[in-house]
Amino acid sequence: LSERLQKAFSGLRRKGKVTESDVRDSMREIRLALLEADVNFGVVKEFVKNVREKAVGAEVLESLSPAQQIIKIVNDELTATMGEAAVPLNKSPHIPTIIMMVGLQGAGKTTTVGKLSKRLIQQEKARPLLIAADVYRPAAIDQLQVVGKSVGVPVFEMGTDTDPREIVRQGLAQAALQHNDYVIIDTAGRLQIDEKLMTELADIKEIAHPNEILLVVDSMTGQAATDVAKGFDERLDITGVVLTKLDGDTRGGAALSIRKVTGKPIKFIGQGEKMDSLDVFYPDRMANRILGMGDMLTLIDKAQQNFDEKQATEMADKIKENTFDFNDFLDQMAQVQNMGPMEDIMKMIPGMANNPALKNFKMDPKDIAHMKAIVYSMTPAEREQPDLLNPSRRRRLAAGSGRPIVEVNRMIKQFNASKKMMSQMYKGNFQGMEGLMGG
Ligand code: GDP
Ligand code: MG
Repeated sequence: LSERLQKAFSGLRRKGKVTESDVRDSMREIRLALLEADVNFGVVKEFVKNVREKAVGAEVLESLSPAQQIIKIVNDELTATMGEAAVPLNKSPHIPTIIMMVGLQGAGKTTTVGKLSKRLIQQEKARPLLIAADVYRPAAIDQLQVVGKSVGVPVFEMGTDTDPREIVRQGLAQAALQHNDYVIIDTAGRLQIDEKLMTELADIKEIAHPNEILLVVDSMTGQAATDVAKGFDERLDITGVVLTKLDGDTRGGAALSIRKVTGKPIKFIGQGEKMDSLDVFYPDRMANRILGMGDMLTLIDKAQQNFDEKQATEMADKIKENTFDFNDFLDQMAQVQNMGPMEDIMKMIPGMANNPALKNFKMDPKDIAHMKAIVYSMTPAEREQPDLLNPSRRRRLAAGSGRPIVEVNRMIKQFNASKKMMSQMYKGNFQGMEGLMGG
């Protein structure tokens, strides 16, 4: 999927501006990419429609960096579809919090029971009890015992001859006696959804009143994951999803369509067979992963975080009135510095990486420190009126900052040049610069 989208956007990166047909082309690519990643067809259709509506419009077409804008729109839309923020586990107001694991055979239920226990122990010093309610395969109980042992958690079991409903009843009674704060029920799965399994699970739900019914889905099952999620949710009204095996083929497709089809949050992701490979699901990270454009997105985020909108407007006014002075210059340097090394930032901007003007562009943090030292040596009047800086004042700055006079002269020259450039940019296309800086 990522490769597909990278390809879709590489076309945009080459151009300065995006036409409506560019947007149309890239949307076609996005649709294909999502379908290839086994995202549900209906979900793809709606997703692409939303993105197109947001992308075709003035903000994209008039921007200096259209590719940046489109990537952001696609990323935001992916994130929104998957649920904006991470959703924590539901908790009971009194102990125990009861968690029921459901899902097809091999999805990763038993493994996830262990991972979740480990997590709860580490984070809350929890004392969970595990209930072995998969009685159809003798090996299933042994497996839960092994998992329980490896994370130091007791397992309640009654062998394979007792009805799972009865096992759950007695397990809960035991948890009450022992004051366990969590009970995690490991249930049976089938290769496909069938009525007998669903009835059994619905009965266990009725008996246990779980605070959380986590559907465990194998992310490698692709398109089928959507139908499985829908089937379980319709019958059991699940409260959350765990998406496993994301360490394998990294298809984010299942995350997108499960969330869309069930409306239920994906709470955790499994990324390995080991007991510590369970992570909280972050929709924004998953979106990044699906897009495979981490660097670009980090840049966009950083620019937005660091470039305060109000400051940007004030700066714009100053440039317009040509009153941009050394105080503003200091502010601007501080903001740019917050974003990290200058060369890295420039390289992340589409079209900039290969821009010949920037080929040898390098900005040493030391240079910034030196420039600041020179500005700090100025009097308030000099900072506000750079024209005051005659040769004798410049010599004083050199002495005050401990920098050679040539460097002082060079910096003032650069300052004047960039002031002029900014003023021209403003008259020409300030809109674009605002877009670039996230204003
Ligand atoms: P269950 O039938 O739903 O209880 O599934 P299991 O917990 O027995 O898991 C089935 C197989 O998938 C086992 O071999 C697990 O080790 C493996 N598995 C589970 N979760 C993950 C995961 O996140 N990543 C990988 N690579 N393997 C996993
Ligand atoms: Mg199992």
